[in-house]
Amino acid sequence: MTHLNTRCVHVKTPEAPEGRPLTAPLYQTSGFAFADPAVFADGMANPDGAPVYSRIGNPTVRALEDTVAELEGGQAGFATGSGMGAINSVLLTLLSSGDHVIAQRSLYGGTFASFENLAHRWGIEVSYASGPAEARQALRPNTKLLYAETISNPMVEVADLPGMFAVGREAGLINVVDNTFATPLLCRPIEQGADVVVHSTTKYLGGHSDVLGGVAVFADADLHRELWPELVEIGASADPFAAWLTLRGVQTLALRMRQHCASAQFIAERLAGHPAVRAVHYPGLPSHPSHELARKLLTGNGGVLTFDLGSRAAGLAFVQAIRVASLGPSLGGVETLVLHPASTSHRQLTDEQLRAVGIGEGVLRVSIGIEDPDDIWADFDQALPR
Ligand SMILES: *Cc1c(COP(=O)(O)O)cnc(C)c1O
Repeated sequence: MTHLNTRCVHVKTPEAPEGRPLTAPLYQTSGFAFADPAVFADGMANPDGAPVYSRIGNPTVRALEDTVAELEGGQAGFATGSGMGAINSVLLTLLSSGDHVIAQRSLYGGTFASFENLAHRWGIEVSYASGPAEARQALRPNTKLLYAETISNPMVEVADLPGMFAVGREAGLINVVDNTFATPLLCRPIEQGADVVVHSTTKYLGGHSDVLGGVAVFADADLHRELWPELVEIGASADPFAAWLTLRGVQTLALRMRQHCASAQFIAERLAGHPAVRAVHYPGLPSHPSHELARKLLTGNGGVLTFDLGSRAAGLAFVQAIRVASLGPSLGGVETLVLHPASTSHRQLTDEQLRAVGIGEGVLRVSIGIEDPDDIWADFDQALPR
């Protein structure tokens, strides 16, 4: 087996009549025509059949699914139009009313909202747990699924995946993890016991802020085959052009991640030494509560960090003073993005609730891009209060 970075470059390509294309061609078609009705019929019913209709199967989308599945060490993938499309497709096909879910307490906002909707509208019980001990305490006879995120947003806590998944394994649960922040370059959760790995490919896998997408990777080909008929009927399937752009991003994932991690470490250390900065949260800093876990579980600390300027006024002044970095949502792209969670992504929370999840009024989340790190720091330095 070649290295992961080699496998990023050599994306899977569809069969070609002659001369293998160097990269995955774009099959920008909604469907295919057939001479043989039996081949057509098989393609409708079989995930490994001929591509028939692009919601059910498309060679470009399949190339992305196979590429990410291999990077994650899984058996099969299902690509979707967004990360939330992947997460909800997995939850809706794995859960039935009356089931109980144990989810990590600090979750991506959209995922938290989906769990709340499942609870209110579909009679699925959800408990929230921080770490393996709380997960074990939350177990019930009807618990079906355990849900975690490798690195949490925005406080970048690293989940104890081996501990969490051991609880899930013992109880016969399906272990699902969102690996968006880590990517398979920093962590391969299937090796830690995950059954399903989901991604927002909008972030690092796509990497260029030009495409939305998601993917679910299955450790077990049988589970993928069992869910596949429902997955294609949900209708969240990826568009071929989006899959093509994402594959193009994946080809440089290893290079980008190396730079994201190195630059984030550099900026985290500079911020930590600045008198106006109250605290810096980055797993690469020894002061971070997840530092030891990150060393054990991750091959790099990622490209996202948060820091605290102490007050809402100071946080908002910083985001208006930046010139190289931009104020905006999302993360994982080539450009540095800064966001003030208290006024945007977590605006619904009261001051008290913000404090409970550790998001101060002056906290800023940064997705470090691949610009020259000296330029990023010079920008931050001039934007910081003096
Ligand atoms: C962005 C994100 C999502 C949602 O992905 P979309 O592509 O925006 O639907 C889910 N999980 C995490 C961790 C994310 O960062």
